[in-house]
Amino acid sequence: MVIRMRHTRAHTKNRRSHHALKAPMLAVCSNCGEKHRPHYMCQTCGFYNGRMVIDMKAKTAKREARMQSKKDAISGQQVEAAAEAEALPEAETADKK
Ligand SMILES: [Zn+2]
Repeated sequence: MVIRMRHTRAHTKNRRSHHALKAPMLAVCSNCGEKHRPHYMCQTCGFYNGRMVIDMKAKTAKREARMQSKKDAISGQQVEAAAEAEALPEAETADKK
C-alpha cells in the first residue's frame, strides 16, 4: 500500500510493527553438529541427509593449494621486479661514466 497523505503516529507505528527482522531458522548438522540451512547441504562438512554430497575437505585443500600457488607466483614476480629495479640504476650509472 502506498502512503499518499500524512498519517497519525499510531498509523505509522502499526505499519512498522511488521518491519522487524526475524532470526533465520537453522538446523543442526547430524554429522558435524554445525548449524546449516534446513533442506540444504552442510557448508562445513558437505553432508546432507546423513550422506556425503561434496567432499568439503578435498575442496578446501584444493582451494588452499590454489591460493598458495597464486601467492608464490605473486611473490616470485615481486622478487623479479625488485631484481630488475636493482639492476636498472647500475646500468644507468654505467652509461653515465
Ligand atoms: Zn556438517
